[in-house]
Amino acid sequence: MNDPRSIVAQIMRLMHSRGLISGLSGNASIRIKEDNLLITPSGYHKAFLKPEHIVLIDFEGKLLEGSLRPSSEWRMHVEIYRRYPSAKAIVHAHPPYTLAIGKGIETVDMPELRLAVGNVGFIPPVEPGTRDLADRVAAALKNAKIAIMEKHGVVSMDEDILRAEARIEALEEICKIVYLTTLKK
Ligand code: 13P
Ligand code: ZN
Repeated sequence: MNDPRSIVAQIMRLMHSRGLISGLSGNASIRIKEDNLLITPSGYHKAFLKPEHIVLIDFEGKLLEGSLRPSSEWRMHVEIYRRYPSAKAIVHAHPPYTLAIGKGIETVDMPELRLAVGNVGFIPPVEPGTRDLADRVAAALKNAKIAIMEKHGVVSMDEDILRAEARIEALEEICKIVYLTTLKK
């Protein structure tokens, strides 16, 4: 289970089973060396990824190992690794409650938010897969390890891919509670 390709595939299955992504959404990567990364392929059902589907690319998006097309968000992954040398893994998901709460997270006062999530960056709607998105998300992570992209999803970075994914789960859990609480009022 230490094979990073297996871990990436497993993370995507986990997120799919928890409703954090749908079949074609989300992506994840692990930095292997200073300037190359293992990343999920684009347009492939994320709950059925096998280790051999995970591709190795360099910081120009060039395929070094594997045959599938790298994630359409490879620029975003690369830009985050470029700016934050301590980042070793990045996970992107489309968690529904987090997107429903959006910027509203700034006024949420729950201990779990401080303990398990920390600061949350935020960016307005930007076209997915673009250089602009890559730059804005990377900037939004300056004082945070997770950022919400309005009307799109979240990106989490960490030294460890399990922690990056767990932060998305924690934020989604908080947002679900906040959302359900508003229904009682
Ligand atoms: P990819 O399948 O190309 O990684 O795209 C999924 C996604 O969520 C784009 O933002
Ligand atoms: Zn996305």
